[in-house]
Amino acid sequence: MALIEVTKKGLYCPQADLFIDPWRAVPKALITHAHSDHARSGNGLYLAHEHCVPILKSRLGRIQAQGYGYGMPFSCNGVRISFHPAGHVPGSAQIRLEWKGEVWVVSGDYKLEDDGLTTPYEPVKCHHFITESTFALPIYRWRPQQQIFDEMNHWWAMNAAEGRTSVIMAYSLGKAQRILKHLNRQIGPVLVHPAVEEMNSVVRSMLPALPETIPWQINQLPGDHRKALLFVPPGAADSWLEPFRPYSVAFVSGWMNLRGAGKRFASDRGFVLSDHADWPGLLEAIEATEAERIYVTHGYTASLVRWLKEQGREAFPLKTLYDGEAEAAAGWMQNL
Ligand SMILES: [Zn+2]
Ligand SMILES: [Zn+2]
Repeated sequence: MALIEVTKKGLYCPQADLFIDPWRAVPKALITHAHSDHARSGNGLYLAHEHCVPILKSRLGRIQAQGYGYGMPFSCNGVRISFHPAGHVPGSAQIRLEWKGEVWVVSGDYKLEDDGLTTPYEPVKCHHFITESTFALPIYRWRPQQQIFDEMNHWWAMNAAEGRTSVIMAYSLGKAQRILKHLNRQIGPVLVHPAVEEMNSVVRSMLPALPETIPWQINQLPGDHRKALLFVPPGAADSWLEPFRPYSVAFVSGWMNLRGAGKRFASDRGFVLSDHADWPGLLEAIEATEAERIYVTHGYTASLVRWLKEQGREAFPLKTLYDGEAEAAAGWMQNL
């Protein structure tokens, strides 16, 4: 019997009787991170990294949850379980499961670059590695984040000089905080949509390095709003932005380097910044696990499996229901 199998409800460990990021309600769920395609409502008990728990509670309401520190193992029916930094968003984790000397690691979503706020990714050695593959095509190669932040600050300064508010559309968990950490605050005030501020306050309570932001109420404008940078979640209604006219909108995502992505998200400007590993990052991470078998899910599964097999690795596709960034954005648009 394998330590992890795919069931209708999600990845399942029969020995521990636990699901991982299940997409249907289950009694006990291990959660890699609080993005909506990984952490759904309705589970009886949520087991997650201790920084993930307050985020889960803020998103899902009253839930029963248990938090653990990174690298602090606990036992469940003889299976040794621990959370390890995934570097994806605050509170994100890879999950390591060990039973009778066999080690499996479920990566969840991960990125290798240290974003200055999230606990940086750490490779975990294992026999079986389940990896995501959101950007598993050789065309995906991220530039160093500082270059992107420099361009973003330059774009903001130009807008401010020309009397336009700068609007950044970014996911309220992860992307928004990562950008906030790297903005040049000399340029002007930083205002945030209430949904973003809610997440900021939860993240700030655990990671005080997150800079302060001004929650923005509709129909309320600070005197220097032309110099302001405003954060909204993807698909925020036009009525929220109306008082700020004229403004310039930028969408920030790994998908921005696809032709047409800017149009799709109705933005004037796109910045390529992702909280997922790029192609070289995925290969580096897989190599570092020294895994004998690699299971690929969540993205360009076939592409990565084919490449790994060509290198003589044992690789298999795993069919799961994680949506990835683009679909998450589309889903949120409907909710706003
Ligand atoms: Zn995610
Ligand atoms: Zn995901």
